[in-house]
Amino acid sequence: MQLKILGAAGEVTGSLYLLEAGASHVLVDCGTFQGRDEDRRNAETFPFDPIGVDAVLLTHAHLDHSGRIPLLAKRGFHGRIYATSPTVELCDVLWRDSTRLMKEEAEWRTRKNRRRGLPAVFPLYDEADVDQAIALFQPTTYDDVFDVAPGIRVRFRDAGHMLGSAMLEVWLKENDEEVKVVFSGDLGQQESVLERNPAVVEDAHFVVIESTYGDRRHKSCAETREEFASIMREALGDRSKVLIPTFVVERAQRVLYELFLLQEEGVLRDNVPIYLDSPMGVTATEIYRKYASLLSAELQGRLLKDEDPFAPKQLKKAITPQESRAINDVRHAVVLAGSGMANGGRIVHHLKHSLWDPKSHVIFVGYQAAGTLGRRIVEGEPYLRIAGEEVQVKSQVHTVGGFSSHADRDDLLAWASNFKTFPLFLVTHGEAKASESLASGLDGLGFKALAPVAGFTIALAPERREIPVVAAALKRGSDDARRALRDVNSLVASLLERLNDAEDLDDLLPLLMAAKTLLETANTKLLTR
Ligand SMILES: [Zn+2]
Ligand SMILES: [Zn+2]
Repeated sequence: MQLKILGAAGEVTGSLYLLEAGASHVLVDCGTFQGRDEDRRNAETFPFDPIGVDAVLLTHAHLDHSGRIPLLAKRGFHGRIYATSPTVELCDVLWRDSTRLMKEEAEWRTRKNRRRGLPAVFPLYDEADVDQAIALFQPTTYDDVFDVAPGIRVRFRDAGHMLGSAMLEVWLKENDEEVKVVFSGDLGQQESVLERNPAVVEDAHFVVIESTYGDRRHKSCAETREEFASIMREALGDRSKVLIPTFVVERAQRVLYELFLLQEEGVLRDNVPIYLDSPMGVTATEIYRKYASLLSAELQGRLLKDEDPFAPKQLKKAITPQESRAINDVRHAVVLAGSGMANGGRIVHHLKHSLWDPKSHVIFVGYQAAGTLGRRIVEGEPYLRIAGEEVQVKSQVHTVGGFSSHADRDDLLAWASNFKTFPLFLVTHGEAKASESLASGLDGLGFKALAPVAGFTIALAPERREIPVVAAALKRGSDDARRALRDVNSLVASLLERLNDAEDLDDLLPLLMAAKTLLETANTKLLTR
């Protein structure tokens, strides 16, 4: 049995893992690489035979996890794709949108190439490949255990990162030996606003954990709300346009809800129009509403009171390009549009029409990658070329970081400290610096952790035994207490090794029972503090 780490190692995108047990081959995720060298890397041959893959387990719909599945189908994969129902529906939306963008890009490049006598450019996959992949979906529920291939069982658990997102508990069996591997998927914050909080998993032999923010802390929800409210107060005071570039799945719904709350508080008056300028955003919002039972208690409470938390008053949906252009004639409004990093999508024309106006405001609510228009605006470039026109930037620019749907360092360590066994942690889905920082944080909790490189293969064997020390206890102690616990840990491990071969244990039993009682007392003391 083995696990191959084939993507999202030392970087955030391109999530791809291969699990093997006996003759079974199962993939976890099959995402696109984004950023550096993305076209070449996404088009590369898979380091396995797609025809020989029995099944794909998909953690969630984001393209860095799902985006190469249509390519996998195009190249011969015909097994099942297991994912929660909302993930299936969101993939349909996201895949078709990215197919359209790839097609437009390929046509544009082909036209350019033709003038230079160069060959035509083809997109990675097309609508027909998406149809083929969609037909392979097998919707799953959370919390049920089921077989996906001979010797491989799985359970999807809520990851609290976006609607339908899952962490996976996977059991692999070969020759009567069973190993449990847990994949965190992308993890939400421990106290998630839109989704339910991430599930608690307590046992595993191996844990693959994401580390997007492995070295950073977010502001708290209360601080973030205060920050957003004060920016909105200032922006609305200027009675001009407030542009919010946003990813239209998850982040847009969060921002709509925050605007709904600001209306309730009276910060945002009911007569200011709010535009959701994105057909994809409108569909995604409907999917969020449809799966209300998977949302947080906070949102369910609202829905029970017959409120629609995704529909602040004066919300207007712009579907057609004409409706989008018509917003240019509105003087005072809040406009949400994609893309989140302003490197495409309808937000671009809004920026072109508003950035010159010193009374206008732009609020970035997500990460801005290097080289994107969003990043250049945030970095204060005075002139920008937008959609073929030179624009002087006079807008007031703000960033709000705390709406992230990712766990930060503290959240990741809190989730990891639920494990009562001592699994080996494989830290992925983060820049190398973030992954290594999280690995050393896990080490501080008494866990073994490593940040593997892409291509890393690990033999899966259940030899990591359960050690009866609660990891949570390691989290809070002083350095001395931590060291003492780590010593206890390694003593227990070495005793377990030797106990296997020993015949007569009667004389040891009272000592071990005494030690157990002492540790239990210490544990209770810590947990009840
Ligand atoms: Zn994600
Ligand atoms: Zn991700």
